[in-house]
Amino acid sequence: MVNLILFGPPGSGKGTQAALLVEKYKLVHISTGDLFRFEMGNDTPLGQQAKAYIAKGELVPDEITIGMLRNKVHKHPDAEGFIFDGFPRTIPQAEALEQLMAEEGTDIHALLALQVDDAEIIGRIRLRGETSGRSDDNDEKIIQHRIDIYKNETTPVFDFFAREGKSQRIDGVGTVADIFERLSQKIDAITNKQLANGG
Ligand code: UDP
Ligand code: MG
Repeated sequence: MVNLILFGPPGSGKGTQAALLVEKYKLVHISTGDLFRFEMGNDTPLGQQAKAYIAKGELVPDEITIGMLRNKVHKHPDAEGFIFDGFPRTIPQAEALEQLMAEEGTDIHALLALQVDDAEIIGRIRLRGETSGRSDDNDEKIIQHRIDIYKNETTPVFDFFAREGKSQRIDGVGTVADIFERLSQKIDAITNKQLANGG
């Protein structure tokens, strides 16, 4: 199995790249943001809980997010691997994900962090907001709040996996094809190393 975390600030291209990577590497894509939007769209109890946080650009509490993530992973017992997109966003979430992978007899193999500066992500989110219908993409203050939360609460997750030698930075500026190529090279290196170590 190869289990990857696609990491980076809001608007850094995680969702776009994950969609391409799952095709190429036959992985299961889990975006907790997409899962929350699905629940909100169906007005489920989980969606109603999440809505208040997401509308403000806050993080949904760890217990809720971790519970949802566990359920989703358990729906794919035969997966060849996962791409986690937008999760983990806090240290407790990172710890929970490691524990879950251990329970499944596997591990997180790499965290790939897309590097995009603030001015570029704000521009991208604004553009996405024109068509995404996401209220959190259409309010200057909320966009800035999401970026601040990313810096304060989420960047420590990079360091968490860096301590295990798993975190890698990838330049996230360029064409979608360029960035896909950069990510593919990293993933190929990871899977080749696994093969060399006997899978
Ligand atoms: N969110 C969260 N926890 C998650 C995923 C999403 O709290 O694990 C919330 C949070 O409010 C975030 C919003 O959902 O601002 C949108 O997240 P998503 O990852 O979809 O957007 P992105 O940050 O990629 O633009
Ligand atoms: Mg996303």
